[in-house]
Amino acid sequence: MNKTVQDNLVVTLDYKLIVEDEMLESTEDGEPILFIQGIGQIIPGLENALYGMEVGDQKTIVIQPEDAYGDYDPESLQEAKKEEFSEEVPLDVGTFLDLEDDEGDILSAQVIAAEEDTVTLDFNHPLAGKTLTFEITVSDLRTASEEELDHGHVH
Ligand code: ZN
Repeated sequence: MNKTVQDNLVVTLDYKLIVEDEMLESTEDGEPILFIQGIGQIIPGLENALYGMEVGDQKTIVIQPEDAYGDYDPESLQEAKKEEFSEEVPLDVGTFLDLEDDEGDILSAQVIAAEEDTVTLDFNHPLAGKTLTFEITVSDLRTASEEELDHGHVH
């Protein structure tokens, strides 16, 4: 009997990600991704679509924002003074910055506007509010080791 995607299997996945008719990512020229199914390592819409697929199966799936990176939240914009950043930090529009919050967590933000003394930072995920189309191929399946399950990632 062929193995199908189920919880606690390590999935090797090849995919193309298409957003607004543009191909954003493809594993075609690189390495496929590996993850443990069922523990939320990938977005819910993609994880749910994988159940029951066999090695070699291909599928095209369309994922709404609520099952991907969430809605775009206008409250996640924040203005910051340029003087709060060290001189080496590039503050050009379009730049992504990794910033540490009060709890020491790293948050990623994009500079979306720059004035003379301030910048506007967007803490939304770049794909927030977007509908994602994935063309996926299950390239391999294997059982995760105890240690992998324990750590919550593939070794
Ligand atoms: Zn580990």
